[in-house]
Amino acid sequence: VADLIDGKAFAAGLRGRIATLAGEFEARAGRKAGLAVVLVGMDPASQVYVRSKGKATVEAGMASFEHKLEADTSEADLLALIETLNADPAVDGILVQLPLPAHLDEQKVIATISPDKDVDGFHVINAGRLSVGQPGFVPCTPLGCLMLLKDRLGNLSGLDAVVIGRSNIVGKPMAQLLLAESCTVTVAHSRTRNLPEVVRRADIVVAAVGRPELVKGDWIKPGATVIDVGINRVDAAEPGKTRLVGDVDFAGAKAVAGAITPVPGGVGPMTIAVLLRNALVAAYANAGIDLPAGTI
Ligand code: NAD
Repeated sequence: VADLIDGKAFAAGLRGRIATLAGEFEARAGRKAGLAVVLVGMDPASQVYVRSKGKATVEAGMASFEHKLEADTSEADLLALIETLNADPAVDGILVQLPLPAHLDEQKVIATISPDKDVDGFHVINAGRLSVGQPGFVPCTPLGCLMLLKDRLGNLSGLDAVVIGRSNIVGKPMAQLLLAESCTVTVAHSRTRNLPEVVRRADIVVAAVGRPELVKGDWIKPGATVIDVGINRVDAAEPGKTRLVGDVDFAGAKAVAGAITPVPGGVGPMTIAVLLRNALVAAYANAGIDLPAGTI
């Protein structure tokens, strides 16, 4: 039976280290590290995410600047706000909550964020830096997955890794991170043939698909490490109730894998912790203060 990878506990530890460093930053810089979050419209899930990001930012001893705009905000107004935040010395990191309403061009909005404040790592400059191995901001969810993998496995060099999903937010940056760790990386997606066979050769499986329990236990190589990024709400046994499941059949995979992340309590808590980490890294860089090496 697989060991559980406790992302909740790892994220709590990371947030503790971030809070300590945020305190040191404030003492040295004479101001708090600042993260600005921009929400356009009233999407209920986005509102929950923005609220929990703001709360976590304040709990870590950083300043949270929340900008909530009407759903019909014009592109020009949104871009103007981002330019203001780019120029604001109190703002170290800028995050625009996605998805945006359909009349706004997401790529154009992301491209307006200063790459040095792009704590989500979605700007093409940061995607390019990741792909050529230069320092830059890495998207929070895949970086959190990598932290869990390194904590569990230590050196990843030479391991066979299969990433299922090729989104710009999770799958592609995950593949780049694993490549940088010298894994042999396969990226599978909706057109992949014989997905069970592809997954069967993997020492590391990262599932970022958005299909409830797609990955079955008998696809998993015995002893493999399984990272389940999926968050899918499905009907529970009790009528009218729902529950969260991942992209992996947890019970089936747990019987075969060496280690596996649960849903919830695995990758989910890492995303916000890494966002805080990226914001703090941005703050130290913007203030020209060296971040103590190897701490976060
Ligand atoms: P996405 O919809 O952008 O991408 C899904 C990918 O899965 C696509 O590349 C597609 O090719 C692939 N895919 C779809 N069906 C497939 C199939 N049958 N077989 C193989 N591949 C298939 O999704 P995303 O934004 O990358 O998110 C993926 C999942 O991760 C979702 O469940 C999402 O909710 C979750 N997620 C979780 C966090 C977190 O904080 N834990 C963060 C981001 C996303």
